[in-house]
Amino acid sequence: MSSMLELVDVHRTYLIGESTVYALRGVSLTIEQGEFVAIMGASGSGKSSLLQILGLLDNPDKGEYRIFGNNVNTMTEDEQAGVRNNVAGFVFQQFHLLKRMDIVDNVRLPYIYSGIKGSFRREAIERLRMVGLEQRIDHTPNQLSGGEQQRVAIARALVRDPLIIFADEPTGNLDSKNSAEIMKILQGLHAEGKTIIMVTHENEIAAYAGRVITMRDGVIVADERKPGIMPPVVVAGEIGFDIHGSGKGSLWQDGRFMGFIAQAFQAILANKMRSFLSVLGILVGVASVIAMMALGEGAKASMQEQLKSMGSNMLSIRAGSAKIRGAAQGAGAVTRFTFADVDDIASLRTLVKNASGVVNGAGRIVFGNKNWSTSLTGVGYDYGTMRAAIPSVGRWFTREEIQTRDKVAIIGVTVAKQLFNNMNPIGKTVKINRINFTVIGIAPAKGFSGPQDEDDVVIVPVTTAMYRVLGKSYLSGIFVEVTSPALIEQTKSTISGMIHKRHRLKVDDDSFNIRDMTEIQQMLSSTTQTMSLLLGSIAAISLVVGGIGIMNIMLVSVTERTREIGLRKAIGARKNDIMLQFLVESVGMTVSGGLIGILLGIGISFILSFFAGWAVKTSLISVVLATAFSALTGIFFGLWPARKAADLKPVEALRYE
Ligand code: ADP
Ligand code: MG
Repeated sequence: MSSMLELVDVHRTYLIGESTVYALRGVSLTIEQGEFVAIMGASGSGKSSLLQILGLLDNPDKGEYRIFGNNVNTMTEDEQAGVRNNVAGFVFQQFHLLKRMDIVDNVRLPYIYSGIKGSFRREAIERLRMVGLEQRIDHTPNQLSGGEQQRVAIARALVRDPLIIFADEPTGNLDSKNSAEIMKILQGLHAEGKTIIMVTHENEIAAYAGRVITMRDGVIVADERKPGIMPPVVVAGEIGFDIHGSGKGSLWQDGRFMGFIAQAFQAILANKMRSFLSVLGILVGVASVIAMMALGEGAKASMQEQLKSMGSNMLSIRAGSAKIRGAAQGAGAVTRFTFADVDDIASLRTLVKNASGVVNGAGRIVFGNKNWSTSLTGVGYDYGTMRAAIPSVGRWFTREEIQTRDKVAIIGVTVAKQLFNNMNPIGKTVKINRINFTVIGIAPAKGFSGPQDEDDVVIVPVTTAMYRVLGKSYLSGIFVEVTSPALIEQTKSTISGMIHKRHRLKVDDDSFNIRDMTEIQQMLSSTTQTMSLLLGSIAAISLVVGGIGIMNIMLVSVTERTREIGLRKAIGARKNDIMLQFLVESVGMTVSGGLIGILLGIGISFILSFFAGWAVKTSLISVVLATAFSALTGIFFGLWPARKAADLKPVEALRYE
C-alpha cells in the first residue's frame, strides 16, 4: 500500500536572469490520507514551492513525486489538470475569485472543466451554505468582505468533493476574527475526513493542524506530530481512481463548449466600451465589404441590363477598317455593302437567325418652328426585334413600308422631347432633311452609351434613308443575329470569308470589320471585375486592420487576466480549455462585429440607392462571405493570444502581479 502523497529527494530551482534560486533542495516527505498538515517556516524558506509541487501546480526539477502511487513525471499536463480537478481543492491567500461572476458561478467553476453534465447550481449553493454564505448567493466578490471572499474560495475548493485541500496562507489577508472562522471551517472539513495541507507562518494557525512541518532554506528541519493525534486509517480502495483517464474528456462533450460561449460573452460584456472599440474595425470593414459588393453587383447588373437592350448574340459588320491606319485608309479602303450581301448572310440558316442592313447619316428634323439635329438610322424590318427597338408608344414599320420607301419615322425619346415637349408626336408630320415624314412611334429609351445619347435618334426604313434622304446606294453596315452564342466565332469567320469572296478582296484586306457584343461584354465584365476587386481589397485591408485591433485587445486581455488563467488551470482547466475560451472570445467579438457590420452595410447600400439613386444589389454571397471572414479573422488573430494564455504555467500565472 503506497502513501497518498510521497516526495523523494525533490529539488526545485528558479532561474532569475543569471542567478539561480534554490527553493527546494532535497525534500522527502510522505503524507497519508486524512492528515491535517501545516507547513511552517520563514518567508522565502520554500513553503509555497513545496505546496505547489504537492498540488501539481508545479513539477520537481529533480527527484520523484508520487500521488496515489502514480509518478507525476510520467503524467501529461492535461492529466495533471484532470487530477487537480478531481482530487484537489485550492485555497489561496489572495482568494483568486473572478470578479465579474457572482459567487455561485465562482463556486461551480471547477465543474465546467470536469466533463460532467449539469448546471451544478444546487451543489454550489449547498457548499456556500456549508461556509455560511447562503444569504449572499446573488452577490459578486466585490460586495463581500475578505473573510467572506475566502469562504467563497473554500466553497469552490469543496464543490467537487476533493480528497485533498491545499491552502497557501489562507488567513494571510484576514484579521484574527475572520482567520479563526476560516480555520474552524478547515478543522470541520478535516473532521469529516478531508486531507488538508496548509502553508502558514503563524503559530496560532499552525496549532489547528495535527502535524507541523518546518522548513528552512529549502529543506525540512522539523516534522512533528501532535501527541495523541494519530493519522486516520486509510480505507483500502477508497482512493482508487483512473488518474490517466481524468484528462482525456472531449472539449465538445456535455455542453462544455456552450459553457465557454456563455463565459466569453460574460467577459466581452464586462468590458463593454473596450470590446466595442476593438470590434469597431471589424464592423467598419464588414460594413464596407457589404456596401461595396452591393455597389459592384448593382453596377454589373445595370450594365448587363444595358447589354441586353443592345441585343444579345449580335454581330455588327461595318465598312472600313477596325484599325485606323491614317494615310493607308484611302478611298478604296471601305467595302460597300448592298442588300445582296444582307440576303446572302441571311441565307446562312444554321448560323444566322436574322440579318438587317443599316445606313447611318445626319438628320435635321423640323416640327413647326422647332428644329433639331440628330443622327438618322435607316433600318430593315428585323432590326426592331434584333435590337429591341420596337416602340412601346406607337408601332414598328411594316415590311411593306420598308419595301415601298415610305416616309414614316420612329423618333427617340430625346428627339420627342426637343420637338414635341408634352405633345403626342404620333401621327404628326415632321420634316427630315426637308422631306415630310409621319411619326409612327417613339423608340424605347436606352439611355447613354458612353458619351453618346442613344435616344437622340431618328429611325426610318433603310430604303427611304438610302434613296430619298441620304442619297446613298450602299449600306453603312449589317447587323446579324447569330443563332447561339457558341456559334459566334464560327459565324464571324464564315461571314468574313463570304464577304471576301463576294467583293473579291485579298485575304489580308480588312476594309470591313465584324465585331460582336461579347467583346463589349467582356470589356464591361472585366471592368466591373477590376472594380469589385479594388473595392474588395480595400474592404479586406480594413478587415485585417480590424483583426489586428482584436489581437491587440486579446493580448491585453490575456495579460490582464493572467491570474484568472492561473486560477482556471489550478482548478483543472486543460491547455485546450484555456485556448478555446480565448478563441471563442475573439471569434465572439469579430462575429458580433461582423453581424452588426452586415446590418450597417445593408443600411448604407439602401441609403445609397434611396437617396443617391445608385444601383445596388446586396447579395447573399457577400453576407455569407462577410460572416465567414469575420469568424476567420477572429480565429486567425485570436490564435496567438489564446496560445499564449494556454501555454502559461499555473504557478507562474497565479504569481503574476
Ligand atoms: P515561501 O512561500 O516560504 O515564502 P517560496 O516557496 O515562495 O517561499 O519561495 C522560495 C524561494 O524561491 C524564494 O527565495 C523565492 O524568491 C523563490 N521563488 C519562488 N518562486 C519563484 C519564481 N517563480 N521565480 C523565481 N524565484 C522564485
Ligand atoms: Mg509563500
